[in-house]
Order: sequence, then C-alpha cells, then structure tokens
Amino acid sequence: MKILLVEDEAALRGALAGSLRQAGYVVEEVARFAEAHEKIALHQYDCVLLDLTLPDGAGLDLLRALKANRSAAGVLIITARDALQDKITGFDLGADDYLIKPFHLSELNARVRAIIRRRQFNGQQQIPFRELLVLPNLAEVHVRGELLSLTKKEYDLLLYFLANPGRILTKEAIAEHLIGDAVDAADSFDFIYTHLKNLRKKLQEKGVENYIRTMYGVGYKLSHE
Ligand code: CA
Repeated sequence: MKILLVEDEAALRGALAGSLRQAGYVVEEVARFAEAHEKIALHQYDCVLLDLTLPDGAGLDLLRALKANRSAAGVLIITARDALQDKITGFDLGADDYLIKPFHLSELNARVRAIIRRRQFNGQQQIPFRELLVLPNLAEVHVRGELLSLTKKEYDLLLYFLANPGRILTKEAIAEHLIGDAVDAADSFDFIYTHLKNLRKKLQEKGVENYIRTMYGVGYKLSHE
C-alpha cells in the first residue's frame, strides 16, 4: 500500500511518515506543492495525505488535480485550520476524510486504514477469492480456513493482484507499489521475482492453484476466469 504524504512542517511530516511506515505502508514524502503536483501526475497512490496550507500552493488545488487525473487514491486532508469552508470545499471536491491538527497518530492510522479499505475493496471486511479469504483489518490470508503465513511484501503483492483481477501488472508498476520512491535507486526489479516466487510457493504448499500468471515480456496477471 503506497501513501503520498504532503506536509511542509518537517517535524510533523517525519512523525507521520515514521508512524505510517511502522504500520507497514510505503510512504513517499513531499513538502512542496510543485513536487506533490508532479508526483500525482506520474504515480499511483492508494492514499494521499494532504496538508491544505503549503508554502507554494493550496492543498485543495492538489485535490482538484487528483480528481482531474481520475486518481483512484483516497484523500485524507490534514490541516491546522479548523475552517468550515475548507472542510466543505474539500468534501465537495471528493476528499474522503478530514483530520484537524493536532491529532493522535493512532487515529491517523485508523483513518488511513479505513480509507484504503473503502477505496480498494468497497469496504469489505473480508475479501474472498476462490479458496482464499483475506481479512484486511488483520492483514491475514486464510486458505480454506487455515492461516497462511506471509511476509509484509508477499501480503502486499497478493493484495495488489486481488485489487486488479484480470489486469496485466507490469514489473515497474509492481516494483513501485512495493517500494515506492526507492524504485528509482533500484538496480533491477529482481526483488519482485523473489517475493513472487515465495508467494507462489506458499500458496502452492496449501494446495492453491497458480492464479498469478506470467505474461512474458509484459508482466503478471491474476487469472480470475
Ligand atoms: Ca502547512
């Protein structure tokens, strides 16, 4: 799960990013409007945390840009201003939720979790797929009632496929989903093969057919027929 954090207060940004990373999210941080604008034009996010007052622009304009790009990202507005008009405008523009500073990190985490769940799987508490059952609240996968032990990356990978059934996911898209910004510094996408190989092996050991098909030279696809 990939989050874009737009916040110009360095100390707060650091605390939020740290808390979200600890919760297992891939977090990209930006302090400026221009940088955020470029990122949302180029990349996909599961959730965008948006400060409304930025030194070089208005957070609400980023929200407008996200919606103009038909982004699937959930949007959580974070701001010190308890201004009713901003709140109303934010919701009118399609923001999912609103947090007034200061707030507890645990509350932030709960709101982000709820937004991503609502966005990704229509808020389902349980995601069934063939003999698999995913419980997103617990980050658990069960096979015919038996818990499957996955690493965080294997779980993220499986969820990414389940969120995109039948769609070809390129290696680049998968790499970016799993490690975010760090993909620019990666020498190769070989780490994907490792996670994918382990995920397939664990599923196979539980008697699950290989639904994740390799599309040679293109990427991978979760077969849902
Ligand atoms: Ca600010």
